[in-house]
Amino acid sequence: MTCASRPEILLVASENPDKVAEIRQLLAATPLQVIALADLPDPPQLTEPYDTFAGNAQHKAATAARATGDLAVADDSGLVVSALDGAPGIHSSRVAASDAERIRWLLEQMEDLNGNQRAAYFVCMIALANPHGEMLGTWQGRVDGIIIPQRRGEGGFGYDPVFLYPPTGKTFAEMTAEEKNGVSHRGQALHAFARDLPAILKLNRTRL
Ligand code: IMP
Repeated sequence: MTCASRPEILLVASENPDKVAEIRQLLAATPLQVIALADLPDPPQLTEPYDTFAGNAQHKAATAARATGDLAVADDSGLVVSALDGAPGIHSSRVAASDAERIRWLLEQMEDLNGNQRAAYFVCMIALANPHGEMLGTWQGRVDGIIIPQRRGEGGFGYDPVFLYPPTGKTFAEMTAEEKNGVSHRGQALHAFARDLPAILKLNRTRL
């Protein structure tokens, strides 16, 4: 199948079903048909070989777009705690084997930290690549919060149960998906992406 025959598809290059669900919801109004790696019979393997969110997001988008001949959007995101020298950062999904264990790991690392030392932020980098593997754009979002010592709430994923968002007094896991998406790092980056997408598609249509 040629690249030009399927420009209406946007592949979300992520193996994380929670992220895919958020991205699908946030991109519901785009003019493209949004599909995920899990919808493909033989999805490309994605790696994160770089030490920056931007490098990894661009690498995943380019790999997926080249492999499938579709436009591909990738997200690389994580939690940054300044008092832990930026950890877990780009290693956010790899510090332990499950969300529950990763939260336990984080709380242990922060056991002796108080006040401002418990400040943290989520960051999200979104990259869009065309089937030639060329970058059509990158977008970033960041949301600041506080890591609380005990889990609260059942929603969201990852570190959400211990990430308190001060303007609401709730953790991300206590907020509805709409509330979280309205303020989150991924929501910010994807809103900017969705805003720019029509112009990017128009500009690049001849190359897709
Ligand atoms: P990666 O971008 O696939 O390397 O994984 C990012 C990791 O950061 C996730 O597995 C989560 O542990 C964490 N993370 C990223 N975004 C969120 C979020 O919105 N809520 C909670 N944890 C997140």
